[in-house]
Amino acid sequence: RLQRITMIAVVVELGNLIIVYSSDHLLSLIGCYMYYMGMNLVMAALMNFIFEYCHCKWPNKTTMLVFYFLLLADNIQYFLNPIFGQAFEVECITVDGFPYYRMIPHIGQIVHRVLDFSILAVAIVILIVRCIQTARIFAERYYAILAVMLVSAVWQTSYMFSRAPIERAMIGYGLFGVLIYYFAIIRRPTQLLDRMLANVASEMPEAMFFFDANERCIWANAPGIRLAHIEGGNFFQANANLLAMFGAHWKPESEWTCQLKLGNEERHFRLQHRFVKDEKGRSAGAFLRIRDFTEEEQRRRRELYNATHDALTGLYTREYLYERIQQKLRENLQMSYQVVFINVKNFKLVNDIFNKEFGDHALRTIAKWVRTDKSENCVYGRIGGDTFGVLVPVEEFNAEQLEEELGRFVVSDGNVTYRLLIHLGVYKIVDKRLDVAVMFDRAHLALSSIRDEYQTHIAYYDNELRSKTLWAQQISAQLYDAIQERHLRPYLQPIVNTEGKVVGCEALARWIHPKEGFLSPAAFIPVFEKNGMIVEVDRHMWRCACEILDSWKGRFDDLFISVNISPKDFFFIDVFAEIKGLVKSYNIDPAKLRIEITETVMMNESDDRMRILSDFRKAGFVVEMDDFGSGYSSLNLLKDMPVDVLKIDMKFLSRSDNENRSQTIVQNIINLSDDLGISALTEGVETEVQYKALAQMRCKLFQGYYFAKPLPQEDFESFCERTSA
Ligand code: C2E
Ligand code: CA
Ligand code: CA
Repeated sequence: RLQRITMIAVVVELGNLIIVYSSDHLLSLIGCYMYYMGMNLVMAALMNFIFEYCHCKWPNKTTMLVFYFLLLADNIQYFLNPIFGQAFEVECITVDGFPYYRMIPHIGQIVHRVLDFSILAVAIVILIVRCIQTARIFAERYYAILAVMLVSAVWQTSYMFSRAPIERAMIGYGLFGVLIYYFAIIRRPTQLLDRMLANVASEMPEAMFFFDANERCIWANAPGIRLAHIEGGNFFQANANLLAMFGAHWKPESEWTCQLKLGNEERHFRLQHRFVKDEKGRSAGAFLRIRDFTEEEQRRRRELYNATHDALTGLYTREYLYERIQQKLRENLQMSYQVVFINVKNFKLVNDIFNKEFGDHALRTIAKWVRTDKSENCVYGRIGGDTFGVLVPVEEFNAEQLEEELGRFVVSDGNVTYRLLIHLGVYKIVDKRLDVAVMFDRAHLALSSIRDEYQTHIAYYDNELRSKTLWAQQISAQLYDAIQERHLRPYLQPIVNTEGKVVGCEALARWIHPKEGFLSPAAFIPVFEKNGMIVEVDRHMWRCACEILDSWKGRFDDLFISVNISPKDFFFIDVFAEIKGLVKSYNIDPAKLRIEITETVMMNESDDRMRILSDFRKAGFVVEMDDFGSGYSSLNLLKDMPVDVLKIDMKFLSRSDNENRSQTIVQNIINLSDDLGISALTEGVETEVQYKALAQMRCKLFQGYYFAKPLPQEDFESFCERTSA
């Protein structure tokens, strides 16, 4: 735009020059036409420039068309001037002895002036409005142009009224054009940029310092003034103060962080120092930026702490514990370590008996104990609810002392004191690259091998445990095939009455393993009880029992089979629905399939379990309580228990040293069951003496090696035929 104005202005300027210097009539006339008509073009271009420069638009299209029409009409009237002479004429006068053609305005020329002045006035008004509306720092771009326009308007007007013979207005315009160009396009923006940068620097939250080529501080923003304790605008002070603060950590021409103790506060700073070079590469000074990120750092550390520390005990969380252990092992390749898995036995009980607060208190007490006397070579944390983990160098692990401490571990909150049973599983690390989770798995495995709960508190993962685990994994993988191939099958142990006649049998699982040979359930049942696969074993056994009962129809119609039900089965399947479905599909009298449950079944959700047993009895099954006398046997529980038969195991009673005492117990249990209308069955009968004695105590049913061992189906069948013959 400005270039276009300039081009047109050159034409106008030329016209003006011709008028001023020509002494020829025709040339003067041409000069006047160039001047006045060109002026109209300048006005059009000026209007466009102002609009663009001030970011405004024509209010509507009509106004714009009227504007151009007026300018066009004005130029047309100049074309008509030679014919009608309505605009102006020139008259020759003598100025300083030279002939000069002076313009004498007529009505057309006055209209032209009104038009041009109006346009100039509109442009000035637009600029004034812009100056008022805009923020000062940005309004400056309008000031120069406004000033130039006002001056030229005054110049022109004064010329008009002074009636000076020679019109020199355009010389001024030319000069003004150049000034506008300089102020509006070149000088203003650079100045504006300087201002903006200065503002940005002073308003930055970071401390900023500028140094001259001699590295003396010449300016600092407000945060900088505060940080370097600059007083009274004496920026030179900054050098000494900055040196005192950061001198020890100084790294010119780079970016770095450092930590300072200011007063009694630890503060963190990030510094950036850069030399400023001029265009020839000479040092022109430097700037320094200092950011205090203490709050950020504290937040980061807090977050890190929260993410890596357990809220209740303040120990490491599992993830972080594992990470730290890995790191420790990497850093100390020479030292030999072990991981210790710490678990509270029956911690759930603590929460149940007391309350959650006491439980939390107990966990904090354990955490405190875990922390105690640990060297910096140890790493410890909380693995989960009531389990903790420790990495400890082998030589720092004092098993005797620990056994002693664990033997008398109590929690007390002032009112209550409770003895906690804590077990440790230890895995000595052989391969330090092993996953830490696996190390703890092994330590955990060692822990779960502790049987004698109150005597031993520490167990070690060793080769025996390792091969046991491997074996457990192997047979678990083979179980489905064993069921398919019937390598897993029931052996039947006869149950006899007082006359020695076989009345039924118990189905006991046997695994005739193609490689390992005969496997006793004592070996594999605990494995499957642990991993839940016992359900598959039992389901298979129940089905086999039904098949046998089915095959006995018409041959051994009176015989029953007792099947075992693991307490775990109740967790995984609907035992009642499953067994009921089986007898139905084989069309078997439910009374022929007896179910053996143990007392432990009643340990959880006893109401629910009682209901299931009642369901069994209502459906016509006979429910037997297995291994009575082996565990927690509560006689109290017995009176509410919906069972038909009590199986008393001689094995548990013969543990007692005192023959008479155990005899008395058996006698009493039999009496009690008689009173409750429950029949007693003694298993584990090995001798005739036992048999006779028990018969005397009015026991009705017997099972044991004295009669027969568990037998394969065909052997059992011939055993029955032999004894009944
Ligand atoms: P249990 O149910 O108490 O089975 C009786 C155990 O005593 C059987 O051992 C049996 O062989 C043994 N026994 C029988 N008479 C005598 C005797 O006169 N003296 C001695 N010392 N022992 C005798 P087994 O077959 O080794 O079974 C061990 C345990 O394995 C069973 O104890 C039972 O708890 C479990 N079990 C066996 N089969 C199954 C099954 O199919 N499912 C479930 N869940 N558990 C089973
Ligand atoms: Ca049994
Ligand atoms: Ca038993």
